[in-house]
Formats: sequence, C-alpha cells, structure tokens
Amino acid sequence: MKKSDLSRVLEQLESAPFFKHAVTQVKTLPAEPGEFREFPPELAAPLQEVLKARGISKLYSHQEEALRRARAGENLVIVTPTASGKTLCYNLPVLNAVLEDESIRALYIFPTKALAQDQYAEIQGLIDGMGTHCTAYTYDGDTPGDIRPVIRKRAQIVITNPDMLHTAILPHHTKWSQFFARLAFVVVDEMHSYRGVFGSHMVHVLARLLRVCGHYGSSPQFLFSSATIANPEELAAKLAGKPVSLIRQNGAPRAEKRFYFLNPPVVRPELGLRQSAQSLVQKIAVPLLRKGISTIVFATSRLAVEVLTRYLKEGVAKARPKSEDKIRGYRGGYLPNQRREIERGLREGRITGVVSTNALELGVDIGSLEVSILCGYPGSIASTWQQAGRAGRRAGLSAAMLVARSTPLDQFIVRNPQYFFGLSPERARLNPENLSILVSHIKCAAFELPFRRGENFGGKELEAILDYLVERRILTRTGDRWYWADVAYPANQVSLRTIQAENFTVLDRSAGNRVIAEVDFESAPRSIYPGAVYMVEGVPYTVEDLDFKGRKAYVRPGALDYYTEAICYTHLRILDVFSSAGENRGGPEFFEGEVHVVDHAAGFKKLKFYTLENLGYGEICLPDQEMHTSAFWIRVPEESFSLIGLSLQDLLQALAGVGYAIRHMASFLLMCESRDLGMCIGDPGVNWFLREPCPQGTGRAQAAWAQVSDLDLKGFQPSLFLYDAYPGGVGLATTLFGLRQELLLGTRSMIEGCSCRHGCPSCVGPYTEIGEGAKEFATKVLTWMISGRG
Ligand SMILES: [Zn+2]
Repeated sequence: MKKSDLSRVLEQLESAPFFKHAVTQVKTLPAEPGEFREFPPELAAPLQEVLKARGISKLYSHQEEALRRARAGENLVIVTPTASGKTLCYNLPVLNAVLEDESIRALYIFPTKALAQDQYAEIQGLIDGMGTHCTAYTYDGDTPGDIRPVIRKRAQIVITNPDMLHTAILPHHTKWSQFFARLAFVVVDEMHSYRGVFGSHMVHVLARLLRVCGHYGSSPQFLFSSATIANPEELAAKLAGKPVSLIRQNGAPRAEKRFYFLNPPVVRPELGLRQSAQSLVQKIAVPLLRKGISTIVFATSRLAVEVLTRYLKEGVAKARPKSEDKIRGYRGGYLPNQRREIERGLREGRITGVVSTNALELGVDIGSLEVSILCGYPGSIASTWQQAGRAGRRAGLSAAMLVARSTPLDQFIVRNPQYFFGLSPERARLNPENLSILVSHIKCAAFELPFRRGENFGGKELEAILDYLVERRILTRTGDRWYWADVAYPANQVSLRTIQAENFTVLDRSAGNRVIAEVDFESAPRSIYPGAVYMVEGVPYTVEDLDFKGRKAYVRPGALDYYTEAICYTHLRILDVFSSAGENRGGPEFFEGEVHVVDHAAGFKKLKFYTLENLGYGEICLPDQEMHTSAFWIRVPEESFSLIGLSLQDLLQALAGVGYAIRHMASFLLMCESRDLGMCIGDPGVNWFLREPCPQGTGRAQAAWAQVSDLDLKGFQPSLFLYDAYPGGVGLATTLFGLRQELLLGTRSMIEGCSCRHGCPSCVGPYTEIGEGAKEFATKVLTWMISGRG
C-alpha cells in the first residue's frame, strides 16, 4: 500500500458525517527539512564507513552536538522525539571512544529486558559493519551461566536493565572488578520512565553503582536519553547525582502529520451521556484496517485493550474472514515470546493493527505505523506525544487521533486543544527520600561495601538509619564503619517496580495447563478471581480456580458473550497528621499526613459485549491490598452540617460529586496522571466509607451506595481523601495541601462551567448513578469549603 492511499482514506473519513461531527480540532504538523552536519574529523573511520554503508552521509545536528559534547567529557541528556535517530547520540560517542582505547567499558541500561535486547541488535549491527573487533553483550536473566564470566571479563559494552543491575551485578561487584575499574560511560535510555516509585528506586541503584565505581577508582560519564518532559535536566541530575547538560534541538527531518481531536457525540442529552470512546474508535479503526492501513490503538486499561481487540477483530473479519491474525492485542502480562512475535509481525508488516496499553509507548521497535488512535486521553501530555509519535515515518503522511472519553480531563482537553498544543509536557516526579525505599537501598549498599563515616548516600539521615539497622542486627558497627551482618541477601527482597515481586501465572486447563499469561500481584484481585473472564488478545477464558498461595489461576476457554468487571472499594486509617489548617468554627478542616489504605474487591459484574447490559453479579473472596502512603484530606466537622444546610444523605452525595471532580482537577493541577492519585470518602473514626467503582475498569462510572441509615451518626465526620497511589508516597498529597485553595476554586468552576443540568460524567459524574442533586449539592459544599460559610 502506497502512502498516498492514507491521504485518500483520510479524505473519505473527513467527509463521513460520523467523523466530521466528532472532530473538534485538526492540526497539521508540517513537514520539516531537518538540520544536517558533516561528519566531524574525530569520528573514527570505521564508524564513518558503517554510516555511509547505511546511506547516512551526514549527521543530524543533535547527533553531532552529542558526539562533540560527550567527547569533551560532559554529562548529557538528549531529548528529541521518537524516530529522530536518538540512539546514535550515545552509540557514536561510546563506539568512538572504544575504538580509540579498547580498554574502555560502557554500561547501557534500558528500563525493560525487551528494549535492551532490541538495542543490542542495533549496536551489534553497527559493530558488524565496522569490521573491527568490539564486543557488546546483553546481561539479563536469559544470559546462560557459562557465558557470564566471559562477559564480565571481555565485554566492552554491557547492555542490561535496572533490575539486573540491582540484584545481579552490583551485589557481585567483586566479579566485575575489571569492568568497574574501567567504566567510562553509563548510558540510560528512556529516562522519562524512571518516575514515581520506579524512579525513586533508580536514583538509589545508580548511587550504589557510583559508590562501587568509586571503590574501583572510576568515575563514569552519564549519557541520558529521554522523551519530552518538562524537567529533563532536573531528573537527570537526580539520577546521576551531579549536574547534567541538555541537548534538545532536534535536527531530524519530519514528515507531515495530521492530528485530530475527536469528541463522541452526545447520545442522551438529558443525561449528558456521550457515545463511548470505544465505539467511536471501533468505527474509525475498522475501515482503516480493512483497507490495510497500519494502525495502532492505545487504550487506557488492560481490560479496555482486550475488549477493543475483540471488537476490531470481529469488525475486520466481517469483511475479510480469517483476517483476525492481522489484528492483535498487546499489554503487560502476555508471555515474552508472544510479545516478541507481535513486535516482529508489526515490523515486518504481517500484522496490520495492534491494540495496546502504554506498554508500546516506550521505544520497542515495531517499525513505523501510519495511524495512531488514542482511545482516551492517556493522562499526560508527554504520553500523548509519545503515543501519537508511534505513527509516522521519515517521509509520507501520518495521522494521530485522540478520542475523548466522558471524564472531565478528557473533555477539557478535547474542547481546549489549543491548551494542549500550547503547553509543555509534565514534570517527571520521584521521591528518593521515600524512607522505605531509601532504607532498602542502604541495606543493599551496605551489603556491597561497608559504609564509612561521612559518606553521602540519600541525604543527611544516613547515620541515623545505619544505627537503626545496627539495633535491628542487620548491620554491625566497628569504629567509623558499618558492616553487613545479616544472613539474608538484601537485593532479592527489594523489587524496583512494586512492593510485591511475585506474579501469578494463568494456566489453560484445556491445553494441559499451558501457561498463557502472567498477572502482577496488585492486579490479581481485580482480574483473576474465580468466575472472572480473563481475556488474552480478545479471546475470553473463564477462571475456574485460583490458587492464591501457589500464585496460579486455572482457566478454560469458552464462547462467552460477556466480560467481567470487579467492584472494589477503598477504606483507610489515619496514621499520622503532619500539617493541618482551617480551624474556624463551622468551617472545613484540611490535613496532610500518612494513611494506611486498604483496597477491597467485593464482587464483580458480568457485562455483555457491545451493549454492556448487566447480566449478573458474583462475589470475590480474596485478600485485601494494603499500603502506607501520604494523603491530603478535607474534613466536614459535625457542627458544620447545619451551616451547609444539607441532610447527611445529600452531603454524602455532594462529597461523591466533589470527589469525582476534584480528583481530575488535582491531577490536572499537579500535571500527574489520574491513576497516580487515589480518592476515597468516609470517616475512619467510625470506619464507614462510600463505595466507589474500581479504578481499573473500562472508564464507566458507577457508584454503589451504602445504606446511610445503618450508620451510627454520633460523631460522624465525613472526609474526602486524596492519596498518592504509590506505597510511601511521591509527594503529590503534600503539594495538594499547599494548593488547596486553587484546587477548590478550580473544581467549583469546572462544575459550574459544565453545560449539563444535574451532573454528567464531565463534571460530578453521571447523575443517574450519583443522584440528581449531586451537581447543586457539590457546588454548595465547595462554596462552604472555599469560604467557610454556607
Ligand atoms: Zn456536567
């Protein structure tokens, strides 16, 4: 299929009424010619040869700049878009240095094993083309034991991932002594993925790396590469522990791209209900796929990926039977070889369409596709650009389409596209001071090398933590040194990505208990409870048994016309109050502190495909998920009920509406993703909480009301909690406490500015579920929260 076909297909689409009426903005990002530089004389001849053999006779300006400045010894972070030849920005300086001095060593770190293996193929290609001797290896869980000693001794470039560095390389640094002594470069690609908990861990893993390097007398130079974020220098400096300079002027040429913003039409004006984003996406994607236009669809949850994959497969098969294999699903949990097979199929063009979570947002090589459709705003500007960037080649037209859901943030973005195009992407946040993370890495570091007095690791609390570990008999102190004293080996107990490391495996009973997928510990209660429909690439399986202790789910395929969605609710306990404000009598009280959050999966619903008709309920009996984190909360004191002038039932309804809206406004103000923040409403004092829908569902809101009349009303003081959805917290709640006035004013104007009458999914939630008075009551409560008066 030639490129011009896409522009013809887009023309047809643009004239179709269903599409035309949904478009709120079309922006054409024009082609750019690019800025080129001659090969600098210091670029070694073999490298010049291999580039020429690939038809590259000049460098992009950012590649030349990276080469020059890296050679001058600068620590760099390179921020340019997808497909701008970013990997050469670190491969050229590293290979050039290795060619000049073969004793030099480099360590490449990629966030996942798959990316590391991808990049190994890339760099090995360069090495093969140079025709000189140079050795690069991947070092990960798949590396055979007999090759490992060879790699440690001989490899000039070692390509690995953070988990492997943390559990296998650093604890065994003595075996790597020659490597560390000569380590000159540390390359960290996809730097923007090191945020939140993962990023907080990564700061300490790299600090441990530098500590080990220092022990062997080396001080490597850092080369970072990142997608566009607001604070690349700040993040890089945190990770490297020293200043890092930025290269962001992109010299790569760009082809034309059309960016469409689409809002599904309102189908029931009286309810403020729109057509679902999924059905509009299906309507757009099916004709594209039937015409053979390569298309990637991004969905915001794993369940949404499965449901959409099924819809697209069925839609395409109607016109072209047996074409289902050309449409695939992709997400975390699929087995590695299945994922590799899908990536390869996309690169080679055997697969035309893929529906994915943000798992394909990172630089896994899937070639370039023609159209990228985002089913729902991914939650951040940075992710939107990454996902949109999955479509587009160096030459020829491509298209990106953002299809909004009904949530307030999606609706805001799709109605104010100029805001989106005018704004810089989010800051990547992390919190290396998170005490539980810090203590874990202090243990790992002490295992690697004893601590000496005056060392600088993780801030000024170091000595106090070391002495605490001595009390716990994990360390011993001799003079000014702290030594590891425990029997257990610390790194194995610390997972960099989540609190719990163990995954569940999903086994197909109809195929001799073949493993068909993996499920991470946190998602298990919501996805593989007995009775659940578990889907892989849109194919439904029923979970027959769950062996929770053995971490196994037994499933059987079935011709089912429904899928399942868990109903969960959250309750919490206050552990500590750090700050408070607003002690005016009758007014609201604001707090910031530490809480213990419990997520309870209570039951599930069976939903019919396409119509979403509710076919029945089932129970879930699984352990709760718990964590400690930081929270910001607003309390409504008992004496203010009469001042606000609402009955308790109405007050709770108002808080539910405020909670729905405020969570979106908060993630908007913080520029974080909405899944980074949890929300719950209730009173920990009497242990009563409002039931809320699962945060990981397909995006449709539904509130299950508890019986307020059951309450012992004495002393009941409902509060609205917003908490960091990461164990230990990453600082979001603390920031919200400081921004509370702005947050409340913004939430009120968002609700008042909505054109619906009684409440809709774009402001306080759909009034059919939340209650008819929600919009009016929510405004009333917000006014009281802002002014302290009724
Ligand atoms: Zn509304």
